[in-house]
Amino acid sequence: MLSSRQLFLNHVAQTSPFPLALEVHNAKGIYMFGSKNRKWIDIISGIGVSNVGHRHPKVIKAIQRQLRKYMHLMVYGEFIQTPQVQLATALSETFKTTLGQDFLDKNLYNDEENNNTEVAQNATYFVNSGSEAVEGAIKLAKRFTGRTQLIGCHNAYHGSTHAALSLGTSEQWKEPFLPLLPNIDHICFDSLPCLSKITEKTAAVIIETVQGEAGVRIPKKSFLQALRKKCSETGTVLICDEIQCGFGRTGKLWAFEHFDITPDIVVAAKGMGGGMPIGAFMASKQMMACLSDNPILGHISTFGGHPVSCVASLATLKVIQEEKLLENVEEKHELFRQLLNPETTKAIKEFRGIGLMLAVKFESFEFLQKVIAHCLDLGLLSDWFLYCDNSMRIAPPLIITKKEIKKACKIILEAIRLAEEDEI
Ligand code: PMP
Repeated sequence: MLSSRQLFLNHVAQTSPFPLALEVHNAKGIYMFGSKNRKWIDIISGIGVSNVGHRHPKVIKAIQRQLRKYMHLMVYGEFIQTPQVQLATALSETFKTTLGQDFLDKNLYNDEENNNTEVAQNATYFVNSGSEAVEGAIKLAKRFTGRTQLIGCHNAYHGSTHAALSLGTSEQWKEPFLPLLPNIDHICFDSLPCLSKITEKTAAVIIETVQGEAGVRIPKKSFLQALRKKCSETGTVLICDEIQCGFGRTGKLWAFEHFDITPDIVVAAKGMGGGMPIGAFMASKQMMACLSDNPILGHISTFGGHPVSCVASLATLKVIQEEKLLENVEEKHELFRQLLNPETTKAIKEFRGIGLMLAVKFESFEFLQKVIAHCLDLGLLSDWFLYCDNSMRIAPPLIITKKEIKKACKIILEAIRLAEEDEI
C-alpha cells in the first residue's frame, strides 16, 4: 500500500518541488502533533492564521453549534444569515471603537452631511480568502471612483490571483503569467517622493499596513499619514491590506491603528477565521452600495460568508476581545527581542517586527535553511518569507505564554548553534 506521503505527492497538486510534507495528526493551541509522539511548536501560526491558537475551544464550540443549524443555504447576499449579520455588525463595531467613528471613508467626503447621517456606517463584503478580498476591494474602488489606475507597492504581496499578482512587483512571479492587469503603477514602500505618482487618475492605492512577505517592514507613521493625505486630496481610495497584519497580529486589532490613519477599504482574511477560510473587504455602506447597482450583481460569490466560517470568525474576534489577548502582546514582543537579537548570538543580524509579527535576519538563505531544518528536528516549525529569504518568520499564536516563548527561543538558539556546527 502506498504511504500517505506517496499519495500526497502523487495526487495532491504541488506548489513546489520541495514541500515540507510534515504529517500532522492533530493540533491544539500553539502545538502540532505527529506520529511517534512528535510535537512541534507552531511559531508561524500556519502563516498568520491561528492567531487564537489551533482549535480554540470557543471557536470549536461556535462551529459545532452552527453545524446543528445549517451550512450552505444560498449564494452570498440573498438570505439573512445570522452568522454573517452578527459578524458584520461586530466588525463595524471594531471601527467605531478604534476610530471613534462609524465608517471608513470619511476622508473622501467633504460634506458634513455624509459624515453624520445614517448612511455613514460600515458594511462588510464576505469572501473566502485573502486574494478574493483584494479582488473585491479593487473592483469596488474602480467602481466607486470611475477610474482605472491602481497603485501598489514595491515588494508587496496581495495574493496569487491575476489582479492580486498585478499589484506586486516580483517579476519572477509575474513574468510567466503575463499579461496581467493593465494600468498599474507602483510606489516604493515608505518613500515620500513616490507619492507624487498618485493623481486624480488613480482609483486606489493598496498597501499592506505592515508588509508581510517582504520580511516584516514597518512604515513610518509620517509616510502612512502623507499617503492618507495624498489619497484624500486626489479622491483616491486608500486600501489597507490587513490580511496578514490584521486581527491582532501587531498588538492592535487593526495594524492601521498604530499609525493614526483611517483607510477607505480594509481587507482581511487569514487570522480572521480562527482556522476556517474566510476573507472580507470592508468599507462605508455608501461606498459598498456601488456593488449592488449598475450592474446589479456586479460582484458575487457562492460561498462568500459561509455560515460556519462566520461563526468561527465571530468567536475568534470575541476571544481576542474577551480574553484580552492584545494586552500583553507588547511584553511578549519584548521577550522575543530580548532572547533573539544580534547580542544573543552573532549569527543573528537583525531583529525586526511589531507586536507578534517578527523577523530574525541571518547572513544567508543557506544558513537560515539549516536553522529551520534543525528547528524542525528539535520540535519547532518556522519558515522564511516569500520576498526575504534570509529572515526567519516568527508569528506565533497570540495565546503563546512567556514560558512557551522562552522554550521556543531556546530551541531556535540551539538550532542556530547546530547550524553553526554544520558550517565547520
Ligand atoms: N495579502 C497579504 C498581505 C498576505 O499575506 C496574503 C497571504 N500570504 C494574501 C494577501 C493572500 O491571501 P490568500 O492566500 O488567502 O489568498
